[in-house]
This record gives sequence, structure tokens and C-alpha cells, in this order.
Amino acid sequence: MQHFTKAEIRQINDYYEDLLSEIRPRFSKDKLDRVQKAFEFANAAHDGVKRKSGEPYIIHPIAVAKIVSHDLGLGTTSIIASLLHDVVEDTEYSLEDIENMFGRKVSEIVDGLTKLSGDHNTKQALTFRKVLLTLSEDVRIILIKMADRLHNMRTLESMPPHKQIKVAGETLYIYAPLAHRLGLHTIKSELEDLALKYKNPEEYNRILYQLQDQEANRNYLIKAFIEPLEERLKIENIDCSISSRLKSIYSIWEKMQKKGVSFDEVYDILAIRIIVKPKPGISEKRQCFDILSILTDIYKPKPDRIRDWITMPKANGYESLHVTVMGPQGRWVEVQIRSERMERIAEHGFAAHYKYKGHDSQEKEMDKWLEMIREILQSPDTDAYEFLDEFKLNLFASEIAVFSPKGELFNLPKDSTVLDFAFEIHTDLGNKCIGAKVNQKLRPISYVLNSGDQVEILTSEKQKPQIEWLKIASTAKARNKIKNAFKMEKSRHLQLGKEMVEAELKKLNIIPTTNTLKKMTAHYNLSNKDQLYSQVGMGFIELNDIENIVKIKSENRITRYWKLTFSRKKKTDEKGAGNIDKKKPFLLREEPESETYSLAKCCNPIPGDDVIGYILANDQIIIHKKDCPKAEKFISSHGDRLITAKWTNFKKLSYLTQLRLNGFDRVGIVNEVTNVISKLHNINMRTVKFDTHDGIFEGDLYIYIHNAQDLQKLISELNKLKGINKIERVEHISE
Ligand code: MN
Repeated sequence: MQHFTKAEIRQINDYYEDLLSEIRPRFSKDKLDRVQKAFEFANAAHDGVKRKSGEPYIIHPIAVAKIVSHDLGLGTTSIIASLLHDVVEDTEYSLEDIENMFGRKVSEIVDGLTKLSGDHNTKQALTFRKVLLTLSEDVRIILIKMADRLHNMRTLESMPPHKQIKVAGETLYIYAPLAHRLGLHTIKSELEDLALKYKNPEEYNRILYQLQDQEANRNYLIKAFIEPLEERLKIENIDCSISSRLKSIYSIWEKMQKKGVSFDEVYDILAIRIIVKPKPGISEKRQCFDILSILTDIYKPKPDRIRDWITMPKANGYESLHVTVMGPQGRWVEVQIRSERMERIAEHGFAAHYKYKGHDSQEKEMDKWLEMIREILQSPDTDAYEFLDEFKLNLFASEIAVFSPKGELFNLPKDSTVLDFAFEIHTDLGNKCIGAKVNQKLRPISYVLNSGDQVEILTSEKQKPQIEWLKIASTAKARNKIKNAFKMEKSRHLQLGKEMVEAELKKLNIIPTTNTLKKMTAHYNLSNKDQLYSQVGMGFIELNDIENIVKIKSENRITRYWKLTFSRKKKTDEKGAGNIDKKKPFLLREEPESETYSLAKCCNPIPGDDVIGYILANDQIIIHKKDCPKAEKFISSHGDRLITAKWTNFKKLSYLTQLRLNGFDRVGIVNEVTNVISKLHNINMRTVKFDTHDGIFEGDLYIYIHNAQDLQKLISELNKLKGINKIERVEHISE
């Protein structure tokens, strides 16, 4: 084994010394000795191993332990587990070794962290599910994982670009929302900013510069805002501190995206925070409202912009009073009013609160907090479902986790119904199912279950499987069992199927002519109508799509799926899947050759756009714009299928692109717009739609264009026209 140099050993000791200075005041000698032992063990286990950055590996666990102590306020068990968190995965030591040396608790946490380690999982979605389930096991696991992720984000620089995008995407997708839900505001903001920095470096830097640019003016505004307020508070004898907060770069960016506004239009970049040192004997809430009253005497509040999170704290424990007021220079300023205690919770979650309370009660209090999180996750009528809600939609894209009344966990495919769940547990339960209590509420058998639901199946002895159930059940298991329950003769299937087809057609006002039935048999690849009837009768064919099949539409919708091809140096050994070198960016070329890529329809990238590739199983690559929401989903769920992509020269092909513009209506504006387009050689117009109302016009331009530069040129030319207010590119082309 290769050992470290003297300089590297000094570096390790410096980091560890830094951790010690953080934890020394917090813990007894006994506990510190255990930390020391863990450090020595981990240090020996990772000896000679380096990170991608070239630093000794052990620096990473030390840094994670520091975050766990300093930012999360966790105790020595967690600090020890942090130091050991990569030992089982990356070294020859086993979980048993850790248990023998550091006890059961530590080894359980390390085990949880090892299982959560995403690097070896191809399907991140599965990891995410585990993450959520881990939450109810021991929240410390997820908190340490959060610290682990934060440090990995801080050191992302040394990773190759395709890894950076993957890790940043995952961070935005799961870890930042989770940090938010756990009330870890500071960590959440840092994670988001770092993720944006790697995902959209240009936009990140642009906002950063704009913030710096306005600093002087901002400082002036803050001073002008605070002075009269401070004076009044002093007169009223209120002990508080007033500070200013900048919205994080990510939050600014997100707002610009969501509301389609420019940097200058984000009015709440600046927030003023008033933190009150509460007087004893009067409730904190009361004191916060007193300050609100003084504030709104001086500055006019924006109607509907007072939020009271003190009376009704958020699920993550956040308490605060928010109000937006008209400040100097006619600028809206958001003001947050809270007590010192509320501030600690807001910044660092409940954990911090208990940390600052100090004394030996720490670990006990921490356990109480953990218990509360567990309860939130388990009790059916709190915000727990809202909590899961946010995640399940995205995270459980392919699977949901459902609980039995006894708390047993079942994994089902997405969109599973009560009936699916009944058959999942037992055939009899399925056959006799009449509905369920989902989270204590009565639901029909067709009710679509969500992750986290607790389901109690209700049965009746009189119930029998129905053919309609095949429309309700979506799991293979349930469908097979339903079909088996039907040991009907062929003629019955046929008759039933005939009735079903006719009923369905009648609903759509379609007469079941020979022609209609022919269209259907052809669509399902059957030879005659009897086959169609019996297949329908047996439930093998569902009639959801019948309208589309029968009425073949002849709209001239241009839904072109651009199939282009790219070339790369031919390898002597062509193997099909897995041939793509993900370390190098893919060169997108115009000339067709050996392999193919396509441009995603959801975001319609054109040459010159910032793009990434998503590799399908057959080595086909779908090219998305980097900021396409769909691509973001891929990044987090199938990060290992990503590839960076670069355009080469594109000259021949044109791409359909849509621009939406609006402005003030005036005579001749339509002409001027079309004139601009016709003057630019590289652009061809397909359709222009204009609409005016109340002196405002809105227009959609459908144009064929070669690349993003030409598009940019067009936009800047259009922007020069008088009356134009806004021009934006429509990603998902609508017609
Ligand atoms: Mn790690």
C-alpha cells in the first residue's frame, strides 16, 4: 500500500484539529475519546487512498463529521458514524468490525449510509425510495447523508463534467427538497446554489455579477430602511437585531424561470430580518406582532402579503412572520420577524435548537426531535402526506410504497389501485374486495393509491370478481388473478365483448358498422370481429383508445420527430449497447452515419443550445436542452445514462422553432415583425399568428432556423422594434 507524504499527513491533522476545536467544547472526555478512536480507525482504513481532487480520502469523512456537528448539531454517535461512513464500502473492514469497536448504534447508522450510497446504483429512483424509508428508521442516517452530499457538492470541481451534471441534478431533485422538509435551510440554500453553479454555470455567474453590481445601491437602501425602524424600536424599548439577507442565487434564478421575469423584476431579492430577544412573561408571538405593528406604522404593507407562520408553523417547524412593505425608493422589501429561538430553527432545523440548549440533555432532546419526525411520517392526518406528496410524484416514478394496517410495507407499480393492492396481499382478499379505508377514509376499489398510503382492504362475502375489474387493475398479478377467476365459456366472453364494444361505441355516438369494426380488428392485429369480441370480453383488450382508432385523424399536425444521425470514429468492434464513451462529449453532426440521435420533442433543442444526451438501451441518444425539466428528471433518475453533447457545424438542416411575443398594439407592427424575419437570410417563416385585445398584441411565430445564434440574432432584431415588450422561445412547440 502506498502511504501519504509528510505534507499530506500534516494536511489530515489540520483538518482533524479543526474538527476537534469544533467538538471539544460540546462533549465530555469519554465521548471525545471515542471520536478519537473512530478517527484513528478510519484514518488507518483509508490510508494511502486519495480522492479525485488528489487530497487524502480521510479528509472527506472529517469534513462530513464537521458539518454534522457544526451545522446539524448532532451528537458523538453521529460524528463517529460520519467518520466511518465510507469504511465499509471502500475498505476491507466489515460492518461487524465496526459493531465490535463502536457498538450497535454506530454500525446501524453506517449500514444505512452504505446502503444509501448512490454510486453503485444505476437507478437513483430506487435509492430515493430508500432515502425516504430510512427517514423513519433513524433520521440521523439521512442527516449524515445530507452532510455527505453537501461536502461532495463543495468538492464537485474535481469531477468530470458528466458526473458533475448528474450529481448536481440529483442534489436539486432530492437532497435540496429533503433538506427543506427537514428545516435545514442553510444547507438547502448552499446545495441549490452549488447545483446551479455546475448545471447552469453561465446563468449562475450572470446572477452573481448582477448581485455584485447592485451592492452599493442595496447597502444604501438597507441603511435608509433600517434607520427609522431602529429608532422607533429603541423608543419602544424592544431588544432586537436587524439584519439584511440576500435571496440565494438559486432562488433568484428559480423565480426568474417560474415567473418569466428578468433579474430586475425580482422584487424580493432583499429581505430584512428582525430577530427579537423576547422579554420574559409575554409570548413570543405577541412580541413579534408588536414589531409588525411598529413596522407597518412606518412602511405601508403590501396587501395579502402578510404571512403568519407563528400561529401555524410549517411542517418542518419553521416559525416566522413575513410581510412585504413599500420601502425607500419605491422598492418592495420583504421583512421577516421572528424570535431568537425561531431563527435557530429556521436556519438549522430543530437540531440546532437542541444544540444551543446545551447541557447533557442534548442527546435526549435530539431523540425527541427524531421521534417527532418519525411521527410526522407515520401519522395519517398531519402534513406527512403533503411531505410525501412532494416526493412521490417525482421520486416514485416507477414505484409506490404502500402500508398495510399493521405497518407492513408493500411496493407496487405507480398508478396501482385499491384492487391491485388487495390482490397483492391475497387472492381471496382481491376476489372479495369492495373497497378500502385509505388513510382512514373510505375509498372505492378503483381508487389510485399514493406512496405512503395506509390501506385497509374491506371485503364482503357476497362480492365476486367482475369483468370491469380489468379496467381497474393494472398490476400483472391482479389482472391474471381476475382473468383466472373467470372460467367462463367462450360464448360468454364473446357475448360480453360484443356488448362492451357496442356500449363503448354508443357512448361516442359511433355506429358499429363493418368498416368501424374492421378498423378495430386491424388495429389490434386480429383476423375477425369475433376474435375482437372475445378478446375484449376476456379483458385482454381495453377500449380506452377506441375513439382514436375509429376516427383516424387527418389533422396536419407537424409533430416531427427529428431523426438525425451523428457520426463518430468507427470502432473496429461494434457491439451495440454500451459502446458509448461517456467521458467524451458527443459530437452532434449533420451528416447521417453509423449511429443515431434524436432531438427531444419536449424542449426542441436547436444547434447551439446547451444540451445533454440521454442514452437509451440501444445506444440511441436523445438530445435535450440542459434546462429541460424532463432532462432534469433523467439526470436524477438515470444519471449514468447521461452524456455531454456538443454541436458541430450545422448549416443544411432547419429546425422548427416557436417564438412568442407580446407588446403594445400599434398600426403596422405585424408587418414590421414579418419584415425583420424576411430580411434575415437564414430564417424561413412558416406561420405567424397574431392576436390583439385591449391594446395589447400577442403573437406566435413559427420559423425554420439553423441554429441558436441565428435565433438570438432574430430575437435581438425583433427587440429593436417599437412596442415589443417580451419575446420568448416556446420549448414545447404548440400548434
Ligand atoms: Mn461519502
